[in-house]
Amino acid sequence: MIQQQHTNNRCRGCGPQYEVTEQQIDRILLAPMFQDEAIVVSKQEYEQRLGLCDGCEKLLNKQTCLLCGCFVRVSAKYRSKSCPNLSDRKWSAVE
Ligand code: SF4
Repeated sequence: MIQQQHTNNRCRGCGPQYEVTEQQIDRILLAPMFQDEAIVVSKQEYEQRLGLCDGCEKLLNKQTCLLCGCFVRVSAKYRSKSCPNLSDRKWSAVE
């Protein structure tokens, strides 16, 4: 199933009308909550997380985690979030 999703280059349930651009994600990340150090990880931790996602077979279109459906550029910002792969967690929440 996942192989088919990669081949189609999109999520099974979403058509191209639901594709999100990098510019739209940029705008999401400009929200005040993503500037709050109590909510977001450090720049170094963020880049490390994105690097791990970038090498992960569960990443679709360099953008979406197939396990949780999140845009990794958004989910990796949160201190409270962890990689959802329970059998091979790539990154964990920060205290
Ligand atoms: S959050 Fe975890 S499972 Fe999802 S793409 Fe990133 S490393 Fe892979």
